[in-house]
Formats: sequence, structure tokens, C-alpha cells
Amino acid sequence: MNIDFEKMNDLVPAIVQDAISGKVLMQGYMNEEALAKTQETGKVTFFSRSKNRLWTKGETSGNFMDYVSMAVDCDRDSILIKAKPRGPVCHTGADTCFFEVNASKTSFIDQLRAIIKDRKNNPNDQSYTASLFAKGINKVAQKVGEEAVEIVIEAKDDNKELFLGEAADLLFHYLVLLEAKGYELDDVMEVLIQRHQK
Ligand SMILES: [Zn+2]
Repeated sequence: MNIDFEKMNDLVPAIVQDAISGKVLMQGYMNEEALAKTQETGKVTFFSRSKNRLWTKGETSGNFMDYVSMAVDCDRDSILIKAKPRGPVCHTGADTCFFEVNASKTSFIDQLRAIIKDRKNNPNDQSYTASLFAKGINKVAQKVGEEAVEIVIEAKDDNKELFLGEAADLLFHYLVLLEAKGYELDDVMEVLIQRHQK
């Protein structure tokens, strides 16, 4: 990892970001032990300067932050931790220590897109997505058409579970179609942004 702990008396700032929403949740300090404990236990742990000991976020409230991954910055003196919070992060009860609402899960779509791209580039027999790519563009496009019809049918009824299921199917197959055509969702966003500016 090669983090420069010595630069600031064995402590480096650790910024914690929600692994799904991308929101910045809080900032604390980690020493080498805190980072090791975070990775061993899977629960984000800091060195608390006020308590003068290791402090696992959530140890009293139960609102742990489950560790996902980490990155070190260009100067090797700051850590970015990605985590999944089990509840509100701040002791004030706010979603984040910067008082932002952390409700959106839409950035999960980027993870999903990365998975879809991987299934295209590294196909395996077990993967449904890979099997779609293998069948070719006509099949993928047809599937989007079928899912569109299914969501229309569910829209006429009042079954939340079935409607949301079809909405998820349509979105998923739409993303597969974009990937099959070699476009990014950002290409579509660009069109929407352009329209909005008019
Ligand atoms: Zn706070």
C-alpha cells in the first residue's frame, strides 16, 4: 500500500464515501492499526484523537460502516475509503457529517454498467448477460421490446412488486442494448443535457 504515515505523526486523513451513492459520508483519521483493523473486521475503524484509541464507527450506535475498498491519494498521505453505512453516519443523526441527504441509489447504475461491460468482454457460460451478447444485437433489441411491453401491461395494474420488477428488467436490458451498440449511458445523458440547455 505504501502510505506515508510518518508525514503527520502516524495519522492520515481518511475520507469515507458511500460505495453505492458516492456521497462523502465523513472524515476521520487512521493510523496503520486502524486501517489494518478496518480491513480485517470489515468495519471502518479510525484512530480517535479525542478518545486516544482505535474507534470503530458504530461501536456504540450499531451504525457500522461496512468496508468495501480503499484508495490512496497521489501524495500517499490521504485515504479514500468506500463503505456501506448501516444507518445514519453522523452522531447528530444526519445521513452524513456534512448534513447531506444520502438517499439516492442511482449511482449503482454505474456499477451495473461496469458489470455488463465485463460480461461482454469476459463472457462466461453461467452469465445470462453474456448469453444475451452472444445472441447478437437483434436478440438484445427484441428483448428490450418485450420488456417494454411487459412494463406497459404492469402499468395498467396496481401490483407494486410486479411493476418495479418489470421496470428493473427494462432498465437492465436497455443498458445491455447500449453496451451491445457500443454506446455509454453518458452518450444518452449528453443528448438530454443538450436538450435541457435549449
Ligand atoms: Zn458527524
